[in-house]
Amino acid sequence: MRTPAINAALLPGSATPCLHFTLALTEGALARLSVDALRAIFAHELGHIYRGHAGSRREVGQTDKEREADRFAVDLLRKLEPRYPGACLALAEVLTLLTEAPGRAWLSTHPSPERRAQEARAGCARAREPSESRIREA
Ligand SMILES: [Zn+2]
Repeated sequence: MRTPAINAALLPGSATPCLHFTLALTEGALARLSVDALRAIFAHELGHIYRGHAGSRREVGQTDKEREADRFAVDLLRKLEPRYPGACLALAEVLTLLTEAPGRAWLSTHPSPERRAQEARAGCARAREPSESRIREA
């Protein structure tokens, strides 16, 4: 998407029958965000797909969808930590960054980014306890 704003969106897939969605990023996101931040955004958007939010008619409020996607992202990013140290905290960092950025487009449909960042940080801290694993192996 050609805009300097930082934004990401899930769009319906169209290229092949196997492609159920398209993940769109703005040029602003690609130009201004670190690889770690982009990875965190991908993880969040994948959470929407994994939880069935894309094109879903489930009666789940937007706040709950965002929380579910964030929790999925935390669990997924935790698993990447051995290879990408700090991957999990990058989610909290990108949420914090976006609360301060002008043009909060990515957040316009998302609830309370400050609180989400706080919850992501707490989730990442829990991640360091080896006894816990909340994500299902898939
Ligand atoms: Zn979202």
